[in-house]
Amino acid sequence: MKAIRVHEFGGPEVLRPEEVAEPQPGEGEVLVRVCAAGVNPVDTYIRSGVHAIKPSLPYTPGLDAAGVVEAVGAGVTRVAAGDRVYTAGTVSGAYAELTVCKESQVYRLPERVSFAQGAGVFTPYATAYRALFNRGRGKAGESLLVHGASGGVGTAAVQFARAAGFKVIGTGGTEEGRRLVAEQGAHHVLDHRAPDYLEQLKTLTGGEGVDIILEMLSNVNLGKDLDVLAKGGRVVVVGSRGAVEINPRALMTRDASIHGLTLFNATPQELEGVHAAIGAGLENGTLNPVVGRELPLADAARAHEAVLEPGAYGKIVLV
Ligand code: NAP
Repeated sequence: MKAIRVHEFGGPEVLRPEEVAEPQPGEGEVLVRVCAAGVNPVDTYIRSGVHAIKPSLPYTPGLDAAGVVEAVGAGVTRVAAGDRVYTAGTVSGAYAELTVCKESQVYRLPERVSFAQGAGVFTPYATAYRALFNRGRGKAGESLLVHGASGGVGTAAVQFARAAGFKVIGTGGTEEGRRLVAEQGAHHVLDHRAPDYLEQLKTLTGGEGVDIILEMLSNVNLGKDLDVLAKGGRVVVVGSRGAVEINPRALMTRDASIHGLTLFNATPQELEGVHAAIGAGLENGTLNPVVGRELPLADAARAHEAVLEPGAYGKIVLV
């Protein structure tokens, strides 16, 4: 089968399409024929060797895929050959024509959701859910700023929050991105490149500030976030690409807090809730993964460049 292989950590050029042997599912494992694989920023950090997760070389990248169960190993009961599924991590890598997963890593994909959309489910939606509900402890009626709402996690967060009764404000850096954020249900959309957008945010909340901020670029925004929080407000650090200075006094005066988050820290119990919420939303139509761009599997290197460029528009998937 065809797969993308990485033989050394480095730039996008280390992603090479190769012919490799078809993997076989062992006991408790599921073999999935991959129709689409999701490209996440974390795939690029792992590929470059800077992430805490350092797979042994060579490896096939990718956590998120969607496809059809091809075969199951001994003892597997939750899924059967022919089932449509999305993956939540894999054993052998998602950037391939076939991938082996543990039984606990495959979840039903409803008919109404395409495979390309299914490839954009796990990392973005599980992160958005954990940020909003597990770490941010968000409740219906609260106001929310999705700071970076045009990408994978942001669009997922807007959809979850809108369905759960939040007052949602999202930001995007381009006109297309902002239109997309509005289409996902945000009540207000701001331009995070405009000099006065945080003043506009304050005005939108009647001067009070927002209850929760899901922050996609903390190294740029965290200091400013603290000044636009309401009393008891929470910032959830979802993404960060460097250091930042904050004034702790802004937290003190508001009884506010900052919460970190890594999807990889989710407990099995939390993941059960995450997948139940995702499954329900995909089924009832409140969750609709946005596929902005489809590229052939062999163009994984181009996809890794694109996912870090400005002008996000939902997900990039490999087909
Ligand atoms: P993505 O699809 O590439 O989206 C990136 C988002 O950040 C876009 O909405 C982009 O908006 C926005 N952005 C760019 N400049 C910004 C600024 N100055 N202020 C606010 N937002 C800005 O990436 P993603 O998959 O949504 O992931 C978002 C971040 O979270 C990444 O850094 C990723 O590594 C991280 N992440 C962390 C976890 C975790 O477990 N903690 C899990 C998943 C993702 P424009 O392009 O429109 O400007």
